[in-house]
Amino acid sequence: MIFIALGTNLPSQHGTPVETLKAAVFEMEAHGMEIMLSSRMWLTAPVPFDAEQPWYHNAVVAIATDLSADDLLTQMLAVEEKFGRVRSIKNAPRVLDLDLIAYNDKIIHDGERLIVPHPRMHKRLFVLNPLAEIDKNWLHPKVGQTVQEMIDLCDNTQQAKVLAEGLYDKPI
Ligand code: AMP
Repeated sequence: MIFIALGTNLPSQHGTPVETLKAAVFEMEAHGMEIMLSSRMWLTAPVPFDAEQPWYHNAVVAIATDLSADDLLTQMLAVEEKFGRVRSIKNAPRVLDLDLIAYNDKIIHDGERLIVPHPRMHKRLFVLNPLAEIDKNWLHPKVGQTVQEMIDLCDNTQQAKVLAEGLYDKPI
């Protein structure tokens, strides 16, 4: 499966973070990504923790696409740009962050431009918890652990709450 993680911790022209994420999946569909499954929305503390920053809304979707991994990243960056994301300092608040978590079982290391599976996904509960709602048995092709095993090994001080609301009309 192909997994994309979404995150936002700023309001956008689409409204609240919940509205922003819902608008983002529709924009993703217009850019060649067919949303097959979606997690619920999670409200998570910034990692690294920063008491000055608003919490993030996060979700993970499974998509189907004809795009290659490289072309998919290009389309994801175009969607981020459409949502007015300005890259400033590392870990700055953001309107929309899209990360390519996995592209089937491919291992890709194209310099810094594209690393798949995403190089930090196995340490981040804000990715792993929603991903587990889609497929907790997915096996990381490099780390060799399932989503549930990666969750069990994570630093569980990362704070999160799940929002009852689904991101899309196809929650699981
Ligand atoms: P960030 O600002 O942390 O979202 O980083 C975005 C940059 O990371 C993009 O310009 C991508 O070229 C690069 N990148 C490398 N691997 C990935 C990935 N798996 N998903 C998304 N962006 C990636």
